[in-house]
Amino acid sequence: MSFELPKLKYAFDALEPNIDARTMEIHHDKHHAGYTNKLNAAISGTDLEGKTIENILINLDKSNGAVRNNGGGYYNHSLFWEIMSPNGGGTPSGELGDAINSAFGSFDAFKEAFSNAAATQFGSGWAWLCVQEGGKLEVCATPNQDNPLMPGTGCGGTPILGLDVWEHAYYLNYQNRRPDYIGAFFNVINWDEVSIRYAQGK
Ligand code: MN
Repeated sequence: MSFELPKLKYAFDALEPNIDARTMEIHHDKHHAGYTNKLNAAISGTDLEGKTIENILINLDKSNGAVRNNGGGYYNHSLFWEIMSPNGGGTPSGELGDAINSAFGSFDAFKEAFSNAAATQFGSGWAWLCVQEGGKLEVCATPNQDNPLMPGTGCGGTPILGLDVWEHAYYLNYQNRRPDYIGAFFNVINWDEVSIRYAQGK
């Protein structure tokens, strides 16, 4: 039993012009595949084999670099593909929309907080929107392939939205213009999927 690279539910070019096809292809078929293969190699023959990725990350021994980096990479990208869609963008409604207004004051204020977390993460990492027990939302960021499920990251709760700000996620199209990539990401966020994850995580 090993982890499998999840299939994309849309074509590589489906998120253009916000995210270009070549970046999507390399990101999924090379980077995510690499994390998946290396995670499988790292847990093979250990007592982590057969556990869920969530269980592995929640109970992570952070000194285990291979599982930390590749388990994080496997989980983070699996989430990332799901929370984007060619039919994405706009603003969330319903329970999630209310929770965003309650936590941040308005959707625009949330967008500013999330974009700021993504823009100011120094070097490689991720920006997150997380739901805490009880439903409260928080924005945070983690370096490298760390994520809020891992112990002691300074982020907590269940991530329901994540943005990859590694250069491999945007450099072909945006070069050093990370803020433009962050802005474009908001055009493809699949708020229906984020809403489902909010309902499950709260
Ligand atoms: Mn990535």
